[in-house]
This record gives sequence, C-alpha cells and structure tokens, in this order.
Amino acid sequence: MNYNYDLFVIGAGSGGVRASRMASSFGAKVAVCEDLYIGGTCVNVGCVPKKLYVYASEYAAHFHDAKGFGWQMAKPKFDWPTLRQNKTAEIRRLNAIYEDILDQANVDIIEGRGKILDPHTVEVAGQRYSAERILIAVGGWPFIPDVPGREYAVSTNEIFDLESFPERIVVVGGGYVAVEFAGIFNGLGAQVTQLYRGELFLRGFDNEVRQFAAQEIRKKGVDIWFNADVTSIDKQNDGHLTVHTNIGKTLTADAVLYATGRKPRLADLGLENVNVNMTDSGHIQVNEHLQTDEPNIFALGDVTGGLELTPVALAEGTALARSLYNNESYRLDYSNIATTVFCQPNIGTIGMTEEQARRDYPNVEKYRTIFTPMKHAISGSDEKTLMKLLVDGDTGKILGAHMVGADAGEIMQGIAIAIKAGATKADFDATIGIHPTAAEEFVTMREPVDE
Ligand code: NDP
Repeated sequence: MNYNYDLFVIGAGSGGVRASRMASSFGAKVAVCEDLYIGGTCVNVGCVPKKLYVYASEYAAHFHDAKGFGWQMAKPKFDWPTLRQNKTAEIRRLNAIYEDILDQANVDIIEGRGKILDPHTVEVAGQRYSAERILIAVGGWPFIPDVPGREYAVSTNEIFDLESFPERIVVVGGGYVAVEFAGIFNGLGAQVTQLYRGELFLRGFDNEVRQFAAQEIRKKGVDIWFNADVTSIDKQNDGHLTVHTNIGKTLTADAVLYATGRKPRLADLGLENVNVNMTDSGHIQVNEHLQTDEPNIFALGDVTGGLELTPVALAEGTALARSLYNNESYRLDYSNIATTVFCQPNIGTIGMTEEQARRDYPNVEKYRTIFTPMKHAISGSDEKTLMKLLVDGDTGKILGAHMVGADAGEIMQGIAIAIKAGATKADFDATIGIHPTAAEEFVTMREPVDE
C-alpha cells in the first residue's frame, strides 16, 4: 500500500521533533503537525523560559551577597517588561532553530491540529494525509481544578507574559512548577504565598529533602502554607483578587498561579476512531515499545503518563526512531534518572529516597552533611546546603543521592553518571575531591549517620 508518509507525527514538542528528525535521518518519509508552537511546552512555556526567569530571580540574592564581598551599589530595580521581551525574543530564536532542524532533516511541517480518522489517516486543517505509522506526541496541558473564580487564575501558559508584574502572588500547588515559580517571583521581588493542600510539598521526594527545602525556601522569604487550599477567588473593582482559603484566612493578590499538574492534551485527537486505549490516569496506554493497542500507532512523552521530563521524551523519540527505522531493538532504561527542582536553593536528586531504600533494603547506610557553603561565610546569607547518600550496606552500592543547595542541578548530573555506572561508596571514597567546592562533600562523607 502506498502512503503519503512512512511516519506522521502529531505534535512538534521535544519528543515529536526528535522522533521526526531521527526517523527521517534513517530514510523514512516524515511529516509532523503542530497547532501551537514548534518546540512544545519545554521551549515555549516550560523548561526554557522558566530557567531564564530563574536566572533573573537569582540576581536578588547575588546583589544581597555582593555587599559582604565589598561591593556597594544603589538598590537595584527590576523591570518586568525587559525580562519578558528578552525571553520572548530568545524563544522566537529557538522556534526558528527547531523549524530549521526539521527543514534540514527533510521533515514536512504541517500547521494545524491533527485528528486521527482511521489507523492510517490523519486530518489537519481539512487536508487528509495517509501514513504507514502514526506517532502521538501531543504532550499535556495545565490542569486547574474547578474552584469558584478559577477564571481569574493563570497557569504556566500565561504566567510568563503577564501584562504587569504581580507585586503579590498566590501560588497553588506543591509540585515542581509551584515550588519553582514561588522562588522565581520571590526573587524578582514579589510577596509570595504558596498554598499546598498536603502536610509537606514535593510529594515523592526524600522526606528530609522536602523538610530542608521548605526551611531554606522560607528563609528566602516565600510564605509557605501547608494543609491549605483555595476555596474561591473574587475579583475586586480595583482589579485585585481576593483569595479565600479552607483555613479561614484571606489573601489579597495581583495574580493567582495554579500549578496543580497537567493532563494529556487529547481533545479532538480522534482517538475514538482507532483502538487506542487509555490508562486509569487518563494517559495513552503503550507497551514497552511505545506501541498503543492499535499496532501501527505509537505514543511517547507526557501523553503516556511516565516521567514528565523533556530528556525522557527525547530519549523515547530517539529509541523509537532507531527501533522503527534503523533495525535496532527498542531499548530505554528508565532507572536512575536524575532531576532538579530549580527552586532557591536547587534540589537535585537521583535514585531512591531514604523511605524507598529502607523499604527495599535491610541494611541501608545513610551519609549526610549539612553545612554553610564557603560563599556564605562572608556573604551575610544564612543559606545552608544538604547532601545525602544512601548506600546498600551489604554491597556498598549507592542507592540514592540528594542535594539541596546552590547548583545542585549541575552537580547532580555528574553524580548521575557515576550512579548509572554502578558506583559504590568505595568508589566515592576513592575519588579525590575538587577543592574548594561544595561538590567535594559528596566524596568526603566518611561516617554514616545513626538514625
Ligand atoms: P505535579 O503533578 O508535579 O504537582 C502538582 C501539584 O498540585 C501537587 O503538589 C499536587 O498535590 C497539587 N494538586 C493537584 N491537584 C490539586 C487540586 N485539585 N487542588 C490542589 N492541589 C492540587 O505538577 P507540576 O505542574 O508541578 O509539574 C508537572 C510535571 O512537569 C512534573 O511532574 C515534572 O515531571 C515536570 N516538571 C519538571 C520540572 C523540572 O524538571 N525541573 C519543572 C517543572 C515541571 P499532591 O501532591 O497532594 O497530589
């Protein structure tokens, strides 16, 4: 049978673009359709603009710390439109690069939302395309619960481009996005209140890390309320928002950011026309080869409900293209994936939490250090750093590594390679440190803590 394409990809986000260009490089005829923005969430309303805003927010601490090192300066003033415009210009540049990468790879870019009509046909903007295989890479979309006044709240789709800087902001949620944005707006000078419905935010992270991070983030000025949730939001005549909570307190804010997770973006995708089934959590069900129950339709990235991380979607795109078009068996190891929460200070983590390690291993050794980083000996900041290694006492194997501290994201990437390679505590001990760095503490923790 003759098809227009060997592979038709729906969604030009991180995973879709990677799969498209890799498949094309192996000789497949590929098209990718996109109705929003090339590069998807990560490039446009996620990782990239978020990190730029994190950099912007960190200057507040740098200005503060500089005084201890002898620098004197007038009180710095932050200009929101400058950051917003520079961010937008950078994203436009990246959008163009992504488009160029697809062009260079001979992938056809089709503008519009793809709708699957049958296992081999996708319709985009009224035009039908046939394909031997279809890949669904549509990602997710922010979810805002149905509270009265939710229309006054914003998600990460809007937060980067607010018309004016919110002097008072309420952030709802306790995941990566909520914690990161509370830190961003706090650093940029807003009065930030973060509401999380549970006892302690960052569910799923190591408990000690969660507690330590809460303590450090509060020291920076974020007002964190645990066991608190929004019951309704009103808009006042002067434009301010009144946020009512379940603990009887009311907040006045210029913006309310909901960071309460994301859901797969499946509306109008035409899944009812094919045998693609869903998981209980509402994600597309795939087997270990990213294949749906419709054998020629595949899915990857956030829409499949695995780890919602750009590098995971990229790795899946690469592995899928190799397996479908380069005669390689599909192989992807999801164990020991390091991640970072870009709060201030950062949280970097890889492997098991202490709770998981103690559940699965009878003899866990815990190494932990809490210290004042050298910079803060004279900066005037009371920021502390936590580092922690969890070791299987029977084999010496490192089960998990965690850090809360400056540059934890950068440091943890190197630790991740060691752990991926199966490093033991003896390997860490045999490694000579780089002095003076914070990172050297990871190779100088000698005695387990007795807890
Ligand atoms: P998460 O799913 O991580 O967190 C959602 C938060 O909102 C949780 O604290 C959750 O509480 C809370 N929540 C959920 N529903 C409600 C509700 N109805 N009312 C009140 N609170 C609610 O989502 P994020 O948007 O923070 O991040 C999405 C994903 O994107 C992450 O899982 C991560 O994989 C990825 N990401 C990664 C980043 C990075 O690598 N640095 C940065 C940003 C995102 P509870 O815990 O009680 O369920």
